[in-house]
Amino acid sequence: MLTNDQLSQWDRENFFHPSTHLAQHARGESPSRIVTGGDGVFIEDRDGNRLLDGFAGLYCVNVGYGRTEIQDAIAAQARELAYYHAYVGHGTEASITLSKMVLDRAPSNMSKVYFGLGGSDANETNIKLVWYYNNILGRPEKKKIISRWRGYHGSGLMTGSLTGLAGFHKKFDLPLSQVKHTTAPDYFRRDDLNQTEAQFVAHCVSELEALIEREGADTIAAFIGEPVLGTGGLVPPPAGYWEAIQKVLKRHDILMIADEVVTGFGRLGTMFGSDHYGIEADIITIAKGLTSAYAPLSGSIISDKVWKVLEQGTDENGPIGHGWTYSAHPIGAAAGVANLNLIDSMDLVDNAGKMGAYFNKAMADAVGGHAHVGDVRGEGLLCAVEFVEDKSDRTFYDSSKKIGPQLAAALLKRNVIARAMPQGDIIGFAPPLCLSKTEADSIVLSM
Ligand code: PLP
Repeated sequence: MLTNDQLSQWDRENFFHPSTHLAQHARGESPSRIVTGGDGVFIEDRDGNRLLDGFAGLYCVNVGYGRTEIQDAIAAQARELAYYHAYVGHGTEASITLSKMVLDRAPSNMSKVYFGLGGSDANETNIKLVWYYNNILGRPEKKKIISRWRGYHGSGLMTGSLTGLAGFHKKFDLPLSQVKHTTAPDYFRRDDLNQTEAQFVAHCVSELEALIEREGADTIAAFIGEPVLGTGGLVPPPAGYWEAIQKVLKRHDILMIADEVVTGFGRLGTMFGSDHYGIEADIITIAKGLTSAYAPLSGSIISDKVWKVLEQGTDENGPIGHGWTYSAHPIGAAAGVANLNLIDSMDLVDNAGKMGAYFNKAMADAVGGHAHVGDVRGEGLLCAVEFVEDKSDRTFYDSSKKIGPQLAAALLKRNVIARAMPQGDIIGFAPPLCLSKTEADSIVLSM
């Protein structure tokens, strides 16, 4: 067996890690960890640590680690048929079954599902389909996409543009010109501290209206948003936000893409975030919770309204010019089928709702009164604690003094993984949906 020193040398010399300070890592200055195993909400590393993973990897291992049902399904699929493509009508029992299982769980206006590999490529697919849709409808000018500042939709060319976090744009010449950003629905960070929640929602709506007015509704194809802002700070929307935003979109014939990569398959205590907030999407993005990350798989769930136009398009133009070699990969699909069955048999959607309410309350009770805790918020099994320098006027620490990263490092020493969110001064939790009360308590106690 290779020694830890050998592995970390090879790591520094050869491995280009995503979202990493490359120079510090190459110099061996930043933390690294070699993960070896996991069970339930815990992972283990080569140094013998057993850590409670309060972020389920990257909020994706929803059923928890080490589930033999999914491991066995993957192994059986690999033995039977590891790969065949899905082009021109090909499929496997797993991919066809999974498409039915996804549609059975999706909102009733949904019609078909296209399978990709990860959340970024699913959103790339969505934007291409929206453009195709408007071309078929004879509206070639209607192409711009509205996203929110602090939204996260991936890190490809288009999806990195949709993402509204400066760190994903800087030095990459993003965002592309077809993407326009509007206000993040983050009441805690409102500019005007005197605004009520209802006034803040009205402000978000008027900012959206003003953007549409400026650009022209006939140039705007779609609006994309996560039901709950995820990587941008784990921020549930203020009451009435989605209802008010959707009224504007409908009035201007702008499609709604609900990016449910994080919220899909139970995280908020409902099967989809769209169910939770009454979002009537035209397209829904899914990934992470679709397979609980046991294999890479994502999807674009397409509504009946959009699907009819896609069919019309192929009657007029021939087969749709879109697809990946690994679309609907049989191993990913087999993992997806076993994962969705497990979510049902373990009653994880219900557990996420109940345990989420318990965990969020316990966290608020434990730290909400602290002088530097400005906000404790969450929905289902998403929970964020946001820090301030001064509560009375909601001033924030400058970046060198942020509490979030320091606290995440301290929790790690207590064998709990939390995520210092990439923007703001926020520590975030998104544990596996199988979290128990004892495990929830031990996260809270570690704070
Ligand atoms: N959309 C949302 C809401 C996400 O949170 C993420 C990833 O965290 C993505 C899209 C991109 O997914 P991936 O990293 O699988 O490309």
